[in-house]
Amino acid sequence: MRNLALHWQILIGMIAGCCIGLALNMAASERSVKITSDLPAGIVEAEVNDSSSRTVIRYRHEQQETIVTVDPSSRSKDGIRTYKQLAQQDPLASQIYNQHGKSIAKQVGGWCQKIGGLFLRMLQMVSVPLIITSLLSGILSLSGRQGVGKMFKRTLSYYLTTSLLAILTGLLLVNLIRPGLQTTNSLPTGAPSIDETHQTSLIDVIFAQIEAAIPSNPLAAITQPNFLSIIAFTIIFGVFAVRTGGTTAARIHDLTNAGLDVMMAITTAIIRLAPIGVFFLITAVLATQGSSVFKSLGWYVLTVATALLIHACITLPLILKFIAKRQPLEYARAMSPALLTAFSSASSNGTLPVTLTSVEQRAGVSNRTGSFVLPLGATINMDGTALYEAVAVLFIAQLHYGYNLPLSQQIIVAITALLASIGAAGIPHAGLVMMVIILQAVGLPLEMQGIILAVDRVLDMARTSVNVWSDSCGCAVVEALDSQAPQPMNANEPAS
Ligand code: ASP
Repeated sequence: MRNLALHWQILIGMIAGCCIGLALNMAASERSVKITSDLPAGIVEAEVNDSSSRTVIRYRHEQQETIVTVDPSSRSKDGIRTYKQLAQQDPLASQIYNQHGKSIAKQVGGWCQKIGGLFLRMLQMVSVPLIITSLLSGILSLSGRQGVGKMFKRTLSYYLTTSLLAILTGLLLVNLIRPGLQTTNSLPTGAPSIDETHQTSLIDVIFAQIEAAIPSNPLAAITQPNFLSIIAFTIIFGVFAVRTGGTTAARIHDLTNAGLDVMMAITTAIIRLAPIGVFFLITAVLATQGSSVFKSLGWYVLTVATALLIHACITLPLILKFIAKRQPLEYARAMSPALLTAFSSASSNGTLPVTLTSVEQRAGVSNRTGSFVLPLGATINMDGTALYEAVAVLFIAQLHYGYNLPLSQQIIVAITALLASIGAAGIPHAGLVMMVIILQAVGLPLEMQGIILAVDRVLDMARTSVNVWSDSCGCAVVEALDSQAPQPMNANEPAS
């Protein structure tokens, strides 16, 4: 097993989790009990009917009979959809259910969720230091280079434009296809109903994001953690370190690179545990919800894949044709070694040497442009990741709330998805690690990531190819825009 490539191990963990979870769900998800002893004070008798689709709790308290239903698919505003809501709204019913009424499938599912949750905690543990070191290292690699001001602005404009276009494509498709609403089941985790969380106007929402981008206390932002503030401060710090230049910038660069190496090593080690994490999380989901969950995941994969295809095969080629004046098909053929390496490795950073040589030797872009645009792009330009983040979070929200997030929340998702993609390291599953930023921004429970973990590898391969394709197109665009400007003396050093 240890000699197998990680994605095969994850697949095995996923299949094993599916089989065990489904078997548990089929064999032990029904439970009907009448309870007459060991009940909370004042309750003389109670009855619980538990199944994977809903739970009904009936109890008699001081001559008064109460019936409570937990129904994950409830569309009613006052309906109880989760056990967390049950605990808040009717603590007595919740206590009876937890003590006497849980089916075996739900009990085992709960333990598996706890164990799988440890894996998610590890991912959360590395996210802050990984973002800081990855982002700083990308920005500081610009330090000491001549004549980069204009090129930097053009590169940044290209990165921001294409990432935003990618996010818009993702949002459009997830609103059209509504993958999380294609099944009646939602997940058994709880959060306040969305109506309680955003009564504010759009202006307030956007202003809150701008405020978060100016942290009054950057260290507090790290401990909270507030990812928006962390990314904003890291960019400011990096840009001013580059402007300070000299040995200061060099020392910070060395330190950051050393930190990044260690963080990459830790993250890679954690990712090695993914097969076990996936196993427990998938078992938990299937044991509690049964096979209907597959329908949702299928729609989710379809939504991400279609949106990625539209971005890679329509949006970027149009930019390539009309701004860079290149033939998209020819350019794609020249970049094919890099795109295939990206697909199989799921790592923009790992693919970087292949991308550099393909851009320079096969697509005819100068070393000056390639060596500037690509390393920065591998760190901060991730169209595929940005698109995926937006779709995944809206999908999770659809599953969790049972309806689509309103526009104001979708704008927060778009802004934070952009920042998350900028902060994501170019390594496998980095996008998944960064998703906490967006989930946190719209108040969704972080553990709901568990549901999409199972299909993350295959989507990671696809989005990494799109990330690398966008970086490569960026080289042609920046080169075309740069060609009118006078070139510095060392403009055409030999390709490395
Ligand atoms: N694996 C992606 C990359 O290296 C990042 C991600 O997980 O989205 O570009």
